[in-house]
Amino acid sequence: MRVLMVAPPGAGKGTQGAIIAAHFDVPHIATGDLLREHVARGTELGRAVKERLDRGELVPDEVVLEMVRAAMVTAKSNGGGYVLDGMPRNITQARALYQIALSLEMTANVALHLKAADDELIRRLLARAALEHRSDDTEDVIRRRLALYHEVTHPIVEWYEARGILVSVDAMRPVERVARQILTALEAMRPLIDFVPETARRSVDLTGLGVAFGET
Ligand code: AMP
Repeated sequence: MRVLMVAPPGAGKGTQGAIIAAHFDVPHIATGDLLREHVARGTELGRAVKERLDRGELVPDEVVLEMVRAAMVTAKSNGGGYVLDGMPRNITQARALYQIALSLEMTANVALHLKAADDELIRRLLARAALEHRSDDTEDVIRRRLALYHEVTHPIVEWYEARGILVSVDAMRPVERVARQILTALEAMRPLIDFVPETARRSVDLTGLGVAFGET
């Protein structure tokens, strides 16, 4: 299973990414975690990107693309599946990532979009700030990261929709319910994934499913 995630900060992509990766036994490649590790270890790359992370800005495309290419090469030798979390963040990255994946014969089967409202995201991120003390979880920086998501990241959702690999899920519910819905959808798709040509794929919108079944 090859999944990439498109979600605003606070929607739970780290949590859901880890659950999906464990379920399908594939590596969870989280660009934010990889970058924070570099900062914590004080590597040259870490020192170069620290300020941008602290300010909630994106780091240069070449930096993350190179990091992800290396992680995907490793993933290829471990079976070829992956959950990519935090990448792509803009349309340039989406296109470049597609080329990298094509060259490795590892294009994503699913682009998973976690949908949540801004006020809920801010509430969750401020709650996380109190627990984790991430340098970019202050209210100002949270608002900047959300604005950046709407401006440059969210537009890539349409790109994946046009490619027919988008699965949209309502992430405003408890973690277990969101996880169950994601895993059910991915399991339902799994037997078909290698047999349906890219041009014949269709996107799936599950965001109204809870309400349709009486969830409030
Ligand atoms: P995240 O943990 O996904 O919220 O990412 C934390 C921070 O890492 C972001 O605010 C960016 O500064 C940086 N970052 C993570 N992924 C990317 C990416 N694909 N492109 C550029 N910057 C990124």
